[in-house]
Amino acid sequence: MSAKPLHVLSVASECFPLVKTGGLADVVGALPQALAAEDIAVETLLPGYPAVLEALHGAPVLQRYENLMGGPAQLRAGVAAGLALYVLDAPHLFARPGNPYVDADGQDWPDNALRFGALARAAADLARGVPRAPRPDVVHAHDWQAGLVPAYLRYTPGARVPTVMTVHNLAFQGRFPAESLAPLGLPEDAFQMNGVEYYGGVGFLKAGLALSDRVTTVSPTYAAEICTSEHGMGLDGLLRQRGGDWHGILNGLDVRVWDPATDEHIAQRYDAKRLGQRAVNKAVLQQKLGLALEPRTVLYGVVSRLTWQKGMDLLLSVLPELVAGGAQLALLGAGDAALEAGFADAAATYPGRVGILRGYDESLAHNIQAGCDALLVPSRFEPCGLTQLQALRYGAIPVVARTGGLADTVVDANEMALASRAGTGIVFSPVTRDALLHALGRTQALYAQASLWRAMQRRAMATDVSWARPAARYAALYREIA
Ligand code: ADP
Repeated sequence: MSAKPLHVLSVASECFPLVKTGGLADVVGALPQALAAEDIAVETLLPGYPAVLEALHGAPVLQRYENLMGGPAQLRAGVAAGLALYVLDAPHLFARPGNPYVDADGQDWPDNALRFGALARAAADLARGVPRAPRPDVVHAHDWQAGLVPAYLRYTPGARVPTVMTVHNLAFQGRFPAESLAPLGLPEDAFQMNGVEYYGGVGFLKAGLALSDRVTTVSPTYAAEICTSEHGMGLDGLLRQRGGDWHGILNGLDVRVWDPATDEHIAQRYDAKRLGQRAVNKAVLQQKLGLALEPRTVLYGVVSRLTWQKGMDLLLSVLPELVAGGAQLALLGAGDAALEAGFADAAATYPGRVGILRGYDESLAHNIQAGCDALLVPSRFEPCGLTQLQALRYGAIPVVARTGGLADTVVDANEMALASRAGTGIVFSPVTRDALLHALGRTQALYAQASLWRAMQRRAMATDVSWARPAARYAALYREIA
């Protein structure tokens, strides 16, 4: 490759395999490797959560802060899980058990503005040059937790380094009271419409979207959807203003982590030529979740946060019909208490037909993809979605709502598609109970035609869900602004 090698500083609050609550972690963990093929070196800055510090045990200190948002802190550099990392070791902000964002009762940590303000402040310092650290050509900020990076680069003294801001989910915006401004160390002139001000408070994501050189989200359809007042959650006007600087770039999948031919989590490895072997994984999954061992029953899988966004209430409402139609459900997830209780009740009501594991379980997530016949993703909105990509890769037929990245990645197996040997899944809209029921009916009918189903599975598995194409697009964007 002839282009000049670039250094990119990626800033995020999650990174697989060190800390993960959702798809953001997958992206931040996989993109650096994919960008290496584009001659781009990525260093990733993460908060010093206990798990991250443990992985970077004893990593050397690059810079010390006597007082960073209320306490001493240090920036360390090291390598873990094959990633070049910086970590913001700030015990007063990050030395807490459990979830990165909420306490044991599910309440946001009260000092989240300072916690992620500190992350952004440290990122800006790294961007401007810290001894013994390569100076990045571009900073890539992910989601609201990194949203203030361009604000510090704009409103505090020092060089202005080009920035890209990526929205992984517009529903999480990082909004805080106006009084946060001073403790964050931002000057008053930052508090304006073109700066960090957002509906009278400080908006972290808003700041990132307003102040960075390029803004992206994780699929072309979601990029278009959130420019409308119906789906823009208050930010559509700003996004429309960004015009040509606004891009939708699909996520890829780490195809080394997600590979049915080498997956160490699953009972029976397989590939597209040995699809019959999936039967072993189906039986193992049925057994694990207390489902009747029925090889010919349609087994639906779900791996999801249990929330309204993911349409989990709709799924719950169609379970009587799903079971009456002879199908089974294997669900792994955690989230809203009412939905957790609802699915637990359903498992008790339909023993052998509905199997639930409440919680987070990386290994079971792989087993569901390898063993279920069809993966359900009835999201009301979905920026990109990774579980349907995992399903494609594993020959589980995705049954998805026509929204965001789901619409961009699954090809509906309608009659014309099938006649021209296309179609990798079932796509339905609108996101209603009736449309979901109709999609389940279509799935059963296709499943009953074994050779057609198998051909769909092969096409699904042949879909390129890797990072190769998206990484090339990010690389082009970085080079435009570097
Ligand atoms: P989101 O980030 O909105 O939750 P995505 O589909 O983009 O949704 O990414 C979710 C990621 O988290 C996927 O890699 C999925 O496999 C994983 N995941 C979700 N819930 C669980 C769970 N309960 N256990 C294990 N992995 C999960």
